[in-house]
Amino acid sequence: MNPQNISPKYLDSNATTPVDPEVVHAMLPFFNERFGNPSSSDNIHAMDAKKAVEHARETIATYINAEPIEIIFTSGATESNNTAIFGVIPHPMAKGSHIITTEIEHKAILECVDYFCELGGDVDYVHLNPDGTVNLNHLQELIKENTKLISIHAANNEIGTIQDLKAIGAIASSKQVHFHTDAVQALGLVPLNVRLQNISLMSLSAHKIYGPKGIGVLFVKKRRPRVRLKPLILGGGQEFGLRSGTLNVPAIVGFGKAVEILKKRGDTIRENLKQNRDLLWQLLQQIPDVELNGSMENRIPNNLNVWIKGVEAKALINMVSQFISISTSSACTTSSVEPSHVLKNLYGSEKRAFESIRIGLSRNVTEKDIRETADIIATAVQKIRAI
Ligand SMILES: *Cc1c(COP(=O)(O)O)cnc(C)c1O
Repeated sequence: MNPQNISPKYLDSNATTPVDPEVVHAMLPFFNERFGNPSSSDNIHAMDAKKAVEHARETIATYINAEPIEIIFTSGATESNNTAIFGVIPHPMAKGSHIITTEIEHKAILECVDYFCELGGDVDYVHLNPDGTVNLNHLQELIKENTKLISIHAANNEIGTIQDLKAIGAIASSKQVHFHTDAVQALGLVPLNVRLQNISLMSLSAHKIYGPKGIGVLFVKKRRPRVRLKPLILGGGQEFGLRSGTLNVPAIVGFGKAVEILKKRGDTIRENLKQNRDLLWQLLQQIPDVELNGSMENRIPNNLNVWIKGVEAKALINMVSQFISISTSSACTTSSVEPSHVLKNLYGSEKRAFESIRIGLSRNVTEKDIRETADIIATAVQKIRAI
């Protein structure tokens, strides 16, 4: 295969997205001409970089209805999730503390929670409805005297299910428990409002919204009530003392620009995604024996996850790989041969997990792309089933 001649259509946008050319353009000067260290003394170079960082911080804060001082830049949502859990419950406090989460979180939450348990912490996994939304009554029942944190994602990275953040936040705040949400998949696709939704901590990542990889945000609520967070990374005291290390200025500027684009063009982006996603689902249903994972109602508009009965997802993906890039389940676990923990958990079936594909539509997708994609999948399914 000569990669230069092959450009499969990209349909894996829940794993990552390309950097928007406008974002690249905004970032470029900060690699060389405007290379200052924003936390250095007040020389012109430092101040110029600092101004750019604070502009991005303000853009992101405004977009989720937070204050700029509540925005901490991290190396990505994985670090944000780690910081949310172990910053609120430092290691020596694990014993005697209780966390509530779901079994369908991203691994960057589940692995932290496992470690929290190794340290003597106590965890409960809230029951899920068939579409993957949390059972709110059960959530309420699970809250105990020593519950320190509820961590529930905003939208699922495999099946796209959107959680009722406002309802979860209301329950958490009525019991005075901090609510953390991993909102990576929701940013730009679902309204996020940390005040209205009573969110105490929120993880975000740039590379799922056409920004660069390696930059994330942790929103940390400053008042009513303030979240007391112990930093995991110590050093020069950057980011209000909560995350040391020289700031990644180009990436921060890129993140800010990516959010600015959402602010400007979000409505059009969402509408186009939804139209094309719905069309794709309509076309895929013409294949015999397919079933949707998750529900069509509470779903981010760039995601489809489909069970094609009797067709191993790996075989299908390989067969179509010259034409389209789709995925099995979470890209973050592709090194293992484990079936998706999300599907296994929701449907109690390894077979279903092994026979499901995830399709993540990109922003610039057209109706023609969708029709071609459906044809490619249908043809491959027919071939595999004929064997
Ligand atoms: C991609 C993703 C992450 C990881 O984000 P990084 O910035 O790559 O560390 C965490 N949570 C969810 C829901 C994701 O989709």
